Amino acid sequence: MPELPEVETVRRGLAPAMVGARFARVTLRRPNLRFPFPESFVERLEGRTVLALDRRAKYLVAGLDSGESLILHLGMSGRFDVAMPDGRNLSPGDFYLDGAQGAPKHDHVVMALSNGATVTYNDARRFGFMDLVPSADLATCRHFAAMGLEPLSDALTPEAVARLFRHKITPLKAALLDQRLIAGLGNIYVCEALHRAGLHPEMPAGRLAGPDGRPSSKARLLAKVIPQVLTEAVAAGGSTLRDYAQTDGSSGAFQHAFRVYDRAGEVCRTIGCGGCIERITQSGRSTFYCATCQRHPEGLSGSSKIPVKSKVEL
Ligand code: ZN
Repeated sequence: MPELPEVETVRRGLAPAMVGARFARVTLRRPNLRFPFPESFVERLEGRTVLALDRRAKYLVAGLDSGESLILHLGMSGRFDVAMPDGRNLSPGDFYLDGAQGAPKHDHVVMALSNGATVTYNDARRFGFMDLVPSADLATCRHFAAMGLEPLSDALTPEAVARLFRHKITPLKAALLDQRLIAGLGNIYVCEALHRAGLHPEMPAGRLAGPDGRPSSKARLLAKVIPQVLTEAVAAGGSTLRDYAQTDGSSGAFQHAFRVYDRAGEVCRTIGCGGCIERITQSGRSTFYCATCQRHPEGLSGSSKIPVKSKVEL
């Protein structure tokens, strides 16, 4: 599933084609994606100009001159193809390694723009969706009302981390994946951020706040490394996943910079560490970490360190 850096990469690929352009003709090839398209979807888009293309967590938001915003979500396998009138293909990337997912039969929405560009939405699994909401109500719309703070914004401060996690006994990794606290972080980048901060994924999240509620040194470190990991991943064009591809058909490269994700059994890349990357399961998902440089503050070394395979066999 595309995470925040991949969605930001897609945004950067789409923006030159879409911002300032008008929807000349919108064609829906089916009545729904994950959800039905909004009522009169085509009529509400055609003739409207895209004023801006923003991102909120893993959602793209196109502000229209009608006062509505078009919300786009890639789901598991959504991708955009951007064909410019001069023949260039600005597709924001092809992060999905399974080429079959880009097959024309999965082209569900075709948007012809006034500048001659054609933006096509392709989604093999159809977990993506599109919605229209009044721009003035974006913050309170059903997609964003319960959403936590944006990790690539000034809102992610040590004080905010301490405030959000204070008194929480949930494992730190689970708290970071909770979209109601910080929005847009997924499995890959949480694993990577925890490793950079030297924090054990199972430590209680509340440990990031002192007894007085002030941020601990760990909270300060985490608030620093989260945007760092995300920014580096955006600069690399995201990560190419089994399921993911950019809009110019090129691939992201950040997977080559993973320090822990998908590296179980390999040597830790922290200079001087020499530890081995472990894999544990938390909430049914794999967590990758280094038991040497990410020590649990209470001395636990992975209470759920059961090989995934044997767990399945049980
Ligand atoms: Zn290490």
